[in-house]
Amino acid sequence: MEFEPVIGLEVHAQLKTQTKIFCGCSTAFGAPPNTHVCPVCLGMPGVLPVLNREVLAFSLRMALSTGCRVNRESRFARKNYFYPDLPKGYQISQFELPVAEHGEIHIDASDGKLRRIGITRIHMEEDAGKLVHDPEWPVSRVDLNRTGVPLIEIVSEPDLRSPEEAGAYLRKLRSIVRYLDICDGNLEEGSFRCDANISIRPVGASAFGTRAELKNLNSFRHVEKAIAYEIERQKEVLLEGGAVVQETRLWDPAMGRSTSMRGKEEAHDYRYFPDPDLLPVVVDEDWLAAIRDALPELPDARQQRFIDEYGLTAYDAERLTADCDLGDYFEACLAHAPQVKLAANWILGDLMAWLNAENLSITESSVSPEYLGQLLALIDGGRISGKIAKTVFEEMVKTGQDPKAIVEAKGLEQVSDAGELEALVARVLAAAPDEVAAYRQGKKKLMGFFVGQVMRETRGQANPKLVNEILKRELQ
Ligand code: ADP
Ligand code: MG
Ligand code: ZN
Repeated sequence: MEFEPVIGLEVHAQLKTQTKIFCGCSTAFGAPPNTHVCPVCLGMPGVLPVLNREVLAFSLRMALSTGCRVNRESRFARKNYFYPDLPKGYQISQFELPVAEHGEIHIDASDGKLRRIGITRIHMEEDAGKLVHDPEWPVSRVDLNRTGVPLIEIVSEPDLRSPEEAGAYLRKLRSIVRYLDICDGNLEEGSFRCDANISIRPVGASAFGTRAELKNLNSFRHVEKAIAYEIERQKEVLLEGGAVVQETRLWDPAMGRSTSMRGKEEAHDYRYFPDPDLLPVVVDEDWLAAIRDALPELPDARQQRFIDEYGLTAYDAERLTADCDLGDYFEACLAHAPQVKLAANWILGDLMAWLNAENLSITESSVSPEYLGQLLALIDGGRISGKIAKTVFEEMVKTGQDPKAIVEAKGLEQVSDAGELEALVARVLAAAPDEVAAYRQGKKKLMGFFVGQVMRETRGQANPKLVNEILKRELQ
């Protein structure tokens, strides 16, 4: 039997506000444990939370950027459970009335078409603290600096149909939060977290199968691997005549498999109820309009503009716009580069290869967009060959220097002097009488040999076009 996977993702994005969601404590990462805390985020009795307006503004930016309907009035609710990282014994979240609902984003599906993925809801909530398990200590300790750090949870419809689509959806969401500058989107550091719900059903069936929920997916690679593993696991269960049970499973990246964490019976009953300490969240229409007006250009729009304005292929435009900073780099480079296509090729080729190898982000590039553009101008103007440009680029990577200075200091300028090249060609031909004779008898392939000789004599700096012209003329 053929099965079709059905996947829905729940994504938690940590918002980049200066202060926490319900108190004035700093959200800065990496402070000594329990130094960014106050009675409110420590959950002391009698304190009152006050909503940070910026959290709402950031949530609205996301809602508007994902086509969601914003609820004029939403509510906070208490989600009750006991865990040592949650001093109040409940998490303030949103339940029945989230800030926004019924959105969508578009992803490139594997067949090259655009796929619409529905967003069920976006809600605001506070993060919990962090347990620290250090083998040096006899007990676990808790750091409550993260308690009350603002999150939005973005819940998708069960619209995804493969691990790759889930990856594409997650990348698109990450791209959007980074364009909006509301979250740094770092899966590895946990500021962007994803739980995946997975079921399978016979192809053609209309009802969904029973789902399992996967947790602990902290890189894009793991998300896709874990989902693929889960699909296979469920297939095996069904093919052996068993039934998939509803459960939460924990992905083990080292082992490359998941194990059951808790079943439906052990699932929490959160006993949600409206938080009596917080007023309903009312969104003023004028404020919402102002937030909409201030939205930046988003990845889809930018991709289309790159296609229309710069004549890039959809593929290159997509790669250049997925990361906001990369798109900025490209456009800054264009201000100095003579050809769009050349700039796109160098950025997506040599530059990205180097950044990936060094595990650097584009903002950490020692080669500035201005200097890369100037390097491309040197190629375009015939001052250096494309091959020499690679040498210059390597030097730029090491020193961050101006390409013109490197070319001058190292004497890498292309030899385009006709007289000089003619003399050189004459010498090369004189030194290879057999090859010259063979060429003249029809062994035209030898042209490559002659060009190679001239290049060797000039350490690759001869203008290849000119060399070819002169050789053809001299060999006739
Ligand atoms: P919960 O609150 O228990 O996590 P929800 O109904 O909010 O459950 O669903 C959470 C996620 O699970 C959503 O992203 C949704 O799309 C997805 N989901 C729901 N049913 C299925 C299913 N049968 N197969 C795969 N994903 C599902
Ligand atoms: Mg869930
Ligand atoms: Zn606090």
